[in-house]
Amino acid sequence: MNDCLFCKIIKGEIPSSEVFSNENVYAFKDLHPMAKIHNLFIHREHSHDINAMSKTSPEQVVDVYKAILKWTQDEKLDSSGFRVVTNCGPDAGQTVFHTHFHVLAGEKLGRFGK
Ligand code: 5GP
Ligand code: ZN
Repeated sequence: MNDCLFCKIIKGEIPSSEVFSNENVYAFKDLHPMAKIHNLFIHREHSHDINAMSKTSPEQVVDVYKAILKWTQDEKLDSSGFRVVTNCGPDAGQTVFHTHFHVLAGEKLGRFGK
């Protein structure tokens, strides 16, 4: 999508700090980290949000989770733990409408909610 921020990041039109890349998935550091480690995992194919992705291309959800599995194992985070968050729609505060999965780790995280 031409005017999508994260599509531009995938194309390299906007710089980002890569942490993971394969043929399906790209992951990079969040510009405003909410934890010591805060990365965003996105599929290379554009979709608006997690429900759109799950409805039209559920295999893409698997692609992203396989990437998270590989990256967290490589970083030895699967034993210390990590959190995956996907904001969907206004009440969740989604601000970028290219489906993305926040991966938070590197310290003891607070409880989530309001
Ligand atoms: P959302 O609020 O939609 O769940 O998450 C969007 C995330 O994208 C936010 O955590 C925000 O900090 C991050 N973000 C917004 N613009 C950029 C950018 O240009 N580069 C990077 N690396 N992250 C961004
Ligand atoms: Zn996009």
